[in-house]
Amino acid sequence: IKIKVTKINVPVSVASAFEGERVRKDTMFAEFGGNKTECWELVTSGDPAEMEDHKITLIGPDIDDAMFAGADVVRLPLGIVVTVGGKAMQKDFETVLERRIHYFTNYIDGAMHVGQRNIAWIRLTKEAFEKGFRLKHIGEVLYAKMRSDFEKVVDKCEITIYTKAEDVKRLGEEMVKPIYAERDARMSALTDASVDEFYTCLLCQSFAPSHVCVVTPERLGLCGAVSWLDAKATKELDPLGPNQPIIKGEAVDERLGIWDSVNEVVNAASQGAVEKVTLYSILEDPMTSCGCFECICGIMPEANGVIIVNREFSQTSPVGMTFGELASMTGGGVQTPGFMGHGRFLIGSKKFMSAEGGLSRIVWMPKELKDDVAERLNKAVFEMTGIENFTNMVCDETIATDSEAVLEFLETKNHPALAMDSIM
Ligand code: SF4
Ligand code: ZN
Repeated sequence: IKIKVTKINVPVSVASAFEGERVRKDTMFAEFGGNKTECWELVTSGDPAEMEDHKITLIGPDIDDAMFAGADVVRLPLGIVVTVGGKAMQKDFETVLERRIHYFTNYIDGAMHVGQRNIAWIRLTKEAFEKGFRLKHIGEVLYAKMRSDFEKVVDKCEITIYTKAEDVKRLGEEMVKPIYAERDARMSALTDASVDEFYTCLLCQSFAPSHVCVVTPERLGLCGAVSWLDAKATKELDPLGPNQPIIKGEAVDERLGIWDSVNEVVNAASQGAVEKVTLYSILEDPMTSCGCFECICGIMPEANGVIIVNREFSQTSPVGMTFGELASMTGGGVQTPGFMGHGRFLIGSKKFMSAEGGLSRIVWMPKELKDDVAERLNKAVFEMTGIENFTNMVCDETIATDSEAVLEFLETKNHPALAMDSIM
């Protein structure tokens, strides 16, 4: 990736070198999202004729507001709307620019950004605050990077930052969620079989040098932020960029999802570290996981199925590990058969570990995740197996987390995984 040096008017440094920086509790000054407050981000296109370039607006209190005097940590809800306009701008580019909010914010010395869409999570350090960093400076950075990195399509850019709880909530429901849903619906209409090419994503090689995501219509990038449509749009925006097409050709093995073309590309892009991957199996040459996966699924042998844990869930899962413990085992660009990082949206894809029996192997998920994916998951399982309301059979932490109790629950629900072929 080319990183251009641009003059940005903020009191701290902004460079890709700061990308991997974490902001820990003891150095943290302010926090947005991360389960504590609502936090979302959106890139949308506007009519350039009606836009005022470089307009940055904060609606609501800033982090130096008097109401935070003496507070341990400043916590605010946050909604960021980046409006871009330009003759060459296309709707399909919006999500691509939106994902860059993650990278651009991480370039700020003293800022950490995790997640995307309405599960974004941002922290700022005390040091950055003391140097004079305020919320409008996030706008300055996003403005400068959107204009410079996407100069071909962005002629004008406006940033609006909302921090009043009622605005963040109302706009989140009325404006932002319908836009996310519309994008997802467009994506749902595409299948792996209906396209001629898949795409690589190499964006995370800055963190995990041997990691390659293979993005297909039914299998989005594991950060949850790069769909096949996004990868395709990125290729158009940035022909030499992180998303390159893989001309599919004939499958070597349809069930496991093996393509010679995919293996060749993954091998080359990982500098030989990963020789082969399957697209539809978590046991045989599963795809590697970088560090920013939204969820991890892992085998629970005694239940003959898999559990899924999302990043926001902090308790111990039925396999005896927390998300963090699972992540340290699964991440870093290595293949870990039996465990795999993936996006939330994959829960509901008919290709989700389809080689091992697919979605009906899911035996446990945190309640929040289960509720979030229920509609698509139930629909997909019904279409595949005829089972209605599958999520009623899936255990969660409000029912049980210890192995025996989970099994008991699965038995009372007659969970389909119990009757499937042995998973190991
Ligand atoms: Fe790309 Fe995968 Fe990283 Fe997402 S997780 S940015 S798809 S490499
Ligand atoms: Zn990643």
